[in-house]
Amino acid sequence: MRALTKLAAGPGLELVDRPEPDCGPADVKIRVLRTGLCGTDLHLQEWDDWAASTVRPPLVLGHEFYGEVVQVGGDVTDVALGARVSGEGHVVCGGCRNCRAGRRHLCVRPQGLGVNRDGAFADYVVLPAGNVWVQPPELDPDLGAVFDPLGNATHTALQWPLVGEDVVITGAGPIGVMAAAIARHAGARYVVVSDTSAYRLRLAAAAGADVTIDVTKRSLADAQRHLGMREGFDIGMEMSGAPAAVTDMLDNMNHGGRVALLGLPHQPYTLDWGKVITHMITLKGIYGREMYDTWYAMSQMVATSHVFRAAVSSVITHRFAAEEWARAFDTARSGECGKVLLDWS
Ligand code: NAD
Ligand code: ZN
Repeated sequence: MRALTKLAAGPGLELVDRPEPDCGPADVKIRVLRTGLCGTDLHLQEWDDWAASTVRPPLVLGHEFYGEVVQVGGDVTDVALGARVSGEGHVVCGGCRNCRAGRRHLCVRPQGLGVNRDGAFADYVVLPAGNVWVQPPELDPDLGAVFDPLGNATHTALQWPLVGEDVVITGAGPIGVMAAAIARHAGARYVVVSDTSAYRLRLAAAAGADVTIDVTKRSLADAQRHLGMREGFDIGMEMSGAPAAVTDMLDNMNHGGRVALLGLPHQPYTLDWGKVITHMITLKGIYGREMYDTWYAMSQMVATSHVFRAAVSSVITHRFAAEEWARAFDTARSGECGKVLLDWS
């Protein structure tokens, strides 16, 4: 099969021919139809410090996927041959305290698809059946390929009730834009999104943001003034990983504001803890998706609202054939894009 692979430690990737993966008794084998590119894949291609300390080549990359089940292991009873599926890319250990208590998203030993085990940038991928999310047959394959990042956005955005709340999202990457669509869908009053890229702020506006702020020219305080807000945002979603964005957000939260942080900073940074304390701000880190509440919530949002479906679809700006993977990676790295897909069909 074709597989986009990190063959050895160091920069670069190769589309190689390699044997199809074996399907164990508790696994399903999936013919991959679409995959999505994520920042993680760019880090793995570059081979930065994180990649070098995390990955043992050879490794097939990719964790955002949609495909068709072509083989089910002997012990699998609840996933049928021919099912159209996406998948949860964190394979949990099953034995740690959190796993045993049913809090699988808090597993202390998760294995990442396309990071710690062979991933989905290939004609076939194998996953434990418990990680498979069966999709309705009518779902657009492109949409099926973005359930992993849509799950990150859903997990972050639904931390707290949003009805009537004023929401600020820092970072209009694919996940920030999806979060804007969720906030809109879930009943927020105002949704404000910031970024440094005009291209990406246009995507945020199209997905339902009331105001977009280019932080190279304006600040979140300008958005508050424009909207007639006086006391600050109720809910913050940090989706950039940029320390400056966190500072701008904290400066513009209401007292008692709640902030969910998904964006991954490159290194430790300082925060105005005095402000966090005296303004009684709640900060919560978010990793991955809740298994499987997040998957239920996003599936139902996608199934029941054509407005929401259209907003999520609008985040997908590019689709390349698998052979054109290098152009796809260049496009994703340029930032002049939303979500970039690879077509393996
Ligand atoms: P992305 O890198 O495409 O988007 C980040 C955006 O932040 C970019 O558009 C960038 O221009 C913008 N930005 C940079 N500086 C900014 C600033 N000062 N103010 C506002 N915006 C600024 O990433 P994505 O795929 O949308 O993911 C969002 C973030 O979430 C990334 O940091 C990613 O690493 C992280 N992530 C975390 C998890 C998790 O489980 N915690 C999962 C996936 C992604
Ligand atoms: Zn565990």
